[in-house]
Amino acid sequence: MKKRIAIYGSTGSIGTQALEVIENNPELFSLEVLTAHSNATLLIEQAIRFQPNIVIISDETKYAEVNQALASKDIKVFAGEKSLIDIAGSDTYDVLLAAIVGYAGLSSTLAAIEQGKTVALANKETLVVAGDIVTRLVTEKNARIIPVDSEHSAIFQCLVGEQNNPVEKIILTASGGPFLGKKPNFLINVKKDHALQHPNWTMGAKITIDSASLMNKGLEMIEAKWLFGLQNEQIEVLIHSQSIIHSMVQFEDGSVKAQMGLPDMKLPIQYALAYPQRIKNNFKRLDFKNYPNFTFEQPDYKTFKNLALAKDAMFKGGNAPCVLNAANEIVVDAFLKNKIGFLEMSDIIEQCLEKIAFVEKPSLQDYIACNTETRLLASTLIK
Ligand code: NAD
Ligand code: MG
Repeated sequence: MKKRIAIYGSTGSIGTQALEVIENNPELFSLEVLTAHSNATLLIEQAIRFQPNIVIISDETKYAEVNQALASKDIKVFAGEKSLIDIAGSDTYDVLLAAIVGYAGLSSTLAAIEQGKTVALANKETLVVAGDIVTRLVTEKNARIIPVDSEHSAIFQCLVGEQNNPVEKIILTASGGPFLGKKPNFLINVKKDHALQHPNWTMGAKITIDSASLMNKGLEMIEAKWLFGLQNEQIEVLIHSQSIIHSMVQFEDGSVKAQMGLPDMKLPIQYALAYPQRIKNNFKRLDFKNYPNFTFEQPDYKTFKNLALAKDAMFKGGNAPCVLNAANEIVVDAFLKNKIGFLEMSDIIEQCLEKIAFVEKPSLQDYIACNTETRLLASTLIK
């Protein structure tokens, strides 16, 4: 039986790499659903090539274009966020790859979990915003989340076969991004073109900026907390600029397991889609002789304030991570539009964390309201 796959966010960096994985393994996967926000041209191209049953364009103004282009095909075309939720909650697929970027991925992921589905989760923001609600629902509905984020895939792989062995701590590795070792006097003048040049990974614009500011690692701490049911104190971040060790788990006997490989997102994507199977492939192999030195260092929490803010938000809990995420999405967008400087991003996030009222045990409605309120506040602070 082939696994029926829905790719939410098929036109993005994760989405397009997932399509390569599926194309290379036609005997294992059948592609059922493709979705994109506004890149109608690429969505149409993908639909013609992969012949899914359903495509969804969430930007409704692009519906006519997509519908017309696919009129002669046996493909249903839908538009709008509601369609994303309806299809995520339907029976037309087995595994949903959640590869929409940002808060926008939350509602469809929740709809899939509500149906007890398996979600291959790339969209870390879902767990940052509402990790408590999402993980509770996973248990209640007997759903499953398989991480796609490379660090979390590494930890997940280290934990296979260790169900009864408590974890002492996890070590999330970070490349350090393009500005590793830099200080505020350098960062103050950094422009988007430089920030978009990641040394080891090619990714979408938002996560690339998050990687440069270390917010990505902060979001990943919170993601790990929920995915693996950890206490805040059990999560450590370590700079490993080679990006070969994707993360590590230390058990109660002091033994440390690491998962390694060349930095290539196709590997964690493939692992998540095929789990528990490992698929033979011809990806480039790791040759240790090309990496004679593995280095490790403490992150610079003072310079990369976003990491400190995210860690604080994780410890504070409640709606603090939701505020952090919403403010971050707004400032990253503003930085990408050259409206604010690199260091201003942290300043605005910090102000949002101070000004938005703290809610200790938010409901889903509280999170939704908190997201809207924080975005408004952050936008005002930018002007
Ligand atoms: P991307 O910007 O390349 O692609 C985003 C996708 O989401 C696109 O298909 C786009 O059409 C869709 N999208 C954007 N806004 C939307 C909206 N409002 N409604 C519906 N769809 C929308 O992003 P990416 O780099 O592929 O990242 C996707 C997710 O995976 C992010 O959460 C990111 O943190 C995570 N992730 C990415 C990588 C990577 O290597 N790119 C690695 C780990 C985790
Ligand atoms: Mg990652």
